[in-house]
Amino acid sequence: MTKRLLIKGARVLCPANRIDSTMDILLESEKIKDIGLNLNVTENVMTIDASGLMLAPGFIDLHCHLREPGFEHKETVKSGSAAAIKGGFTTICAMPNTDPVTDDATSIQFLIDKAKGQPVRVLPIGSATKNSEGKELTEMAEMVEVGAVAFSDDGHPIANDMLMRHALEYSSALGVPIIDHCEVPSLFTNGQINEGWIASRLGLQGIPSAAEEQMVDRNIGLAKLTGGWVHLAHVSTKGSVESIRNAKELGINITAEVTPHHLTLTEDAILHGINQEGAYKALNENAYNTMAKVNPPLRTQADVEALIEGLSDGTIDIIATDHAPHASIEKLCPMQEAAFGISNLETTLASALSLVHNKKLSLNRMIESVTSSPAALLKASNNKIGQLTKGFSADLTLFDLDADWIVDVDQFVSKGKNSPLNGEKMKGKVVLTVYKGQIVYSNISKDLVSK
Ligand SMILES: [Zn+2]
Repeated sequence: MTKRLLIKGARVLCPANRIDSTMDILLESEKIKDIGLNLNVTENVMTIDASGLMLAPGFIDLHCHLREPGFEHKETVKSGSAAAIKGGFTTICAMPNTDPVTDDATSIQFLIDKAKGQPVRVLPIGSATKNSEGKELTEMAEMVEVGAVAFSDDGHPIANDMLMRHALEYSSALGVPIIDHCEVPSLFTNGQINEGWIASRLGLQGIPSAAEEQMVDRNIGLAKLTGGWVHLAHVSTKGSVESIRNAKELGINITAEVTPHHLTLTEDAILHGINQEGAYKALNENAYNTMAKVNPPLRTQADVEALIEGLSDGTIDIIATDHAPHASIEKLCPMQEAAFGISNLETTLASALSLVHNKKLSLNRMIESVTSSPAALLKASNNKIGQLTKGFSADLTLFDLDADWIVDVDQFVSKGKNSPLNGEKMKGKVVLTVYKGQIVYSNISKDLVSK
């Protein structure tokens, strides 16, 4: 008989059940067995004294890049899974822009097989069009049958209006969203960073806010026309937030996500590069930090504030990481050649908590946006996740709200060391991650565990 796990005295946060109080939780046979005050269990149990720690449902990430197959030098299912649990995530959804692209039932099955035995639930997102070329729809029903939870040509917008219309018609029959990277490709050329004064000053091509906002509006129009479900990936501008708010008021079937970096950094990160020490500085004497190059680009303070407000009031449904690991050589190069993306599974909690510490976002809404809110968008995956309810999967995250630490990318277990936060002081850290009742990541003092 496998041992049961009893976690005592944590401040339990479960937005779905409106819980924020000190409680105990008992886990047995991969499920939450009991939750309540002073649970008295003595037999066949491992007990953890979690006084002073926060206990939340295991975090869920609707958008990450595991790079396998095809780009194993950037990340693998194994290394990405290790990064996920270190960041407190117990469920992650893998984007299909691998090589080959995850665009049929066989490639969905490949990912599911790869994920077997990993310490985290990996849910596949299938490509909406064949080879993500935006020309011909994939066999969505077959992919959902095998386990796809959403469809996306991530990295590429589905630019053809009629194709997007058809994608929405098919996907809504299947009960899954089309996740669109909103960008009008014809509105700029070779864009590197936000179109604005920094791009001008550095002589770089910009990506205008309008490129995103026009596509957001197009998608809202098509969701209205078809009744289909569009999920807007990594929203980055104030105008997008306003359009989504209006669309939701009209009852249009639209959901949206925001990344931790778009919530906490502005385009200034390109200029200062927060930390330009060591090898990075030696290799890159230019006055910019390629680690902050991401698509959509980091925008302005006004955008950041609108995104936080949108997340707070539910206009934006969830925080998703868009964890995009790259090899060092793909970032230690001139801006025009650098890859887009930030490796952030291991820093997301602290980034999100910075908004809580600065009183810009409630702790309850922050937790909700990485637990029950993303769970509600994963209708196709019949997993009982995202809340601390008896019978639900025993996935949980214990974290220290106030622990100070400094980001050191050399300590990342992700293969991607590409973070503009390297050297930054953070507050809040994962202490223990439990997946299906098993401790899969632990940074807890051994004195607090009794067997
Ligand atoms: Zn992405």
